[in-house]
Amino acid sequence: MQAALDILKRTFGFSAFRGVQADVVERVLAGQSTLGVMPTGAGKSLCYQLPSLMLEGTCIVVSPLIALMHDQLRSAEANGISAATLTSVDENRAETIQRLLAGDLDLLYVAPERASQPHFRDLLQQCRIALFAIDEAHCVSEWGHDFRPDYRLLAPMMEAFPDVPRLALTATADEHTRADILTQLGIPGEGLIVAGFDRPNIRYHIRPRDSLTRQIQQIIDAEPGPGIVYAPTRAATERLAETLGKSGRETRCYHAGLPPEVRAKNQHDFVASEDMVIVATVAFGMGIDKPDVRFVIHAGLPKSIEAYYQETGRAGRDGDPSVAHLFWGGDDFARARMRVAEVGQDRSTGERARLGALGALVETAGCRRAILLRHFGETPPETCGNCDNCLNPPKAVDATVTAQKYLSA
Ligand code: ADP
Ligand code: MG
Repeated sequence: MQAALDILKRTFGFSAFRGVQADVVERVLAGQSTLGVMPTGAGKSLCYQLPSLMLEGTCIVVSPLIALMHDQLRSAEANGISAATLTSVDENRAETIQRLLAGDLDLLYVAPERASQPHFRDLLQQCRIALFAIDEAHCVSEWGHDFRPDYRLLAPMMEAFPDVPRLALTATADEHTRADILTQLGIPGEGLIVAGFDRPNIRYHIRPRDSLTRQIQQIIDAEPGPGIVYAPTRAATERLAETLGKSGRETRCYHAGLPPEVRAKNQHDFVASEDMVIVATVAFGMGIDKPDVRFVIHAGLPKSIEAYYQETGRAGRDGDPSVAHLFWGGDDFARARMRVAEVGQDRSTGERARLGALGALVETAGCRRAILLRHFGETPPETCGNCDNCLNPPKAVDATVTAQKYLSA
């Protein structure tokens, strides 16, 4: 591992591996297939970027979003890694294939729908492949919260390369999903490496909605630093941004329906700002590296505990105190139950379990963090001292607004 540490310092400029990175990198360098479950911001990319510089051949990285791939490409190239993306929007595809065939690439980023095609497999068979890295690996599982059928075609493709190790990475997988990823991608059980999920500097608050705008305004008035407000729909982000902006604090809006240049500008200005509020759909935040986000507010129920953890995890990456507020209503659960009814039989069990877990989180009179950590397979202490219920133990449960009622109706 000394050689890996040297490269970590020289090429990446980091003095030490963080958390389980060292364990993951060690397995990958030894040619052992691995599933790394590591929270957002833990540094998953390094787990294949660094080995790609040490292993003979090209590391193929499967990643689900073209925008994220291009971000990754820029950061890999900034670290002096010879890398490329092969996607439908790249105009230099022929050149990339030449570089691949010539053995000039350390890393090649591809989308799952391309990676799973027979002609891509044929192309790879003419090259030396060092590693298959599968990012956002929960997409392979129907238990995961973001199943993508194309991920299912990766395992048959990789079978043509029995000697090439596989590295699956995800931030968000409960125990069921982890087991499924191992099976689907043919990774042995001992290859599972899980990082600690606790984010002790984030304080969790969860309350029913009553007058939502006023509730959000109060938080914003109390929190001077930059923050994200997640709203469920595009229309809701626009309405909220307009109302909240009236208080004088710079407030912008972000959703997929805005013109790309407006979206890019709002994101860029937010990243540079020290006090801006951005009201966004959950499309905002992925791949954004802003360490000093001081608060994340959910104006409605997130899709799952995984999504809640990931979205709130965009706060306080610098380790400084930060808050996460969630406001939910019975109608959120009613809508979610309708969605469960609409998905096919084979997926409804997972969806129902996800909704039940969310219900338990919002309803508990106990520690929120304990519920989150248990969900990710950790054994937390009974109380954390840094969530609403631990700081202010509820006296009696308000029986009029209970999520359970909406879950069982
Ligand atoms: P993830 O994919 O797990 O969310 P990234 O790979 O995007 O995380 O990394 C998050 C940030 O952490 C990046 O800015 C990266 O440069 C930084 N990082 C990664 N490894 C280390 C390390 N060993 N020491 C310090 N910073 C690191
Ligand atoms: Mg990542």
